[in-house]
Amino acid sequence: MILIGRSHRVPVKLCMGAADGGRGRVYFAPGRTAGRPAPSLPETRTPAMPELPEVETTRRGLVPHVEGAYVTGVAVRHHGLRWPVPRGLGAKIAGRRIAALRRRAKYLLFDLGDATLIVHLGMSGSLRITRADEPPGPYDHFDLRLGEKVIRLRDPRRFGAVLWQRGPPDTHPLIAGLGVEPFGPDFTPEFLFAASRGRKVAVKQFLMNASIVVGVGNIYASESLFRARINPRLRAGRLSRAACARLHAAVRETLERAIEAGGSSLRDFVGSDGEPGYFQQEYCVYGRDGEPCSVCSTPVRRIVQGARSTYFCPVCQR
Ligand SMILES: [Zn+2]
Repeated sequence: MILIGRSHRVPVKLCMGAADGGRGRVYFAPGRTAGRPAPSLPETRTPAMPELPEVETTRRGLVPHVEGAYVTGVAVRHHGLRWPVPRGLGAKIAGRRIAALRRRAKYLLFDLGDATLIVHLGMSGSLRITRADEPPGPYDHFDLRLGEKVIRLRDPRRFGAVLWQRGPPDTHPLIAGLGVEPFGPDFTPEFLFAASRGRKVAVKQFLMNASIVVGVGNIYASESLFRARINPRLRAGRLSRAACARLHAAVRETLERAIEAGGSSLRDFVGSDGEPGYFQQEYCVYGRDGEPCSVCSTPVRRIVQGARSTYFCPVCQR
């Protein structure tokens, strides 16, 4: 079995210069085997859901196995994902060739010519490649069959999605209203400046607004603002052009580092039940309240914005 997006147990350092100490880690463990207890997490750490870097890592891991392959069928063991898996999907998809596997925001798009299979990992989903005769686990709700191989969706919390779209994927209601891609040509410092004019919302919430730019979730918003030395409470409309330029670079660098960390964690995994390792990342500020800032040693602060935790350095991010 080959697992995608898993890591060895060595923490992945995203923050150069951050003191280690075994803290400030977030565990990415969406593919846990049923009944296996979760690793004990310090109080302020939460298990991370798949964010854009994990989805992109998954995509890159799957590409060599799926592009050019023919779909032979599907197995739907639970239709009740976030939205129902379409009935009759097997008949629609069987015999089609996967021309490409793309990503838009956190949606994986299996390009089937005049149709698209859209997969979202939700809160806890993971995809793996396995042999068709490998017995499914209790949370293995969906298989995309490619002959001897199977792309298997494991999703304990069932917030993931498997959807069918005739025609180009960008007309799908879930995708049509999305903002720009952080690595796309439309995401520029000037775009950030223009999009933030007149906005009274805090810059952290502005960054997390997927109708503006996609893929900057709660963790990466805190990390990007630290890297850009911008106070997360600043009103978005007050961002200067210079701050927008720093923020633009910081968002890209933060996400790129996370994708690289995920890519370096791709590994072949052979085991009877495919028990994955746990993906750990270390952050500059996220999850580090009270710990010394890696730049100036001031204790990192935690505040709540829009019911989500924000972490920042009150000195570096004035
Ligand atoms: Zn600092």
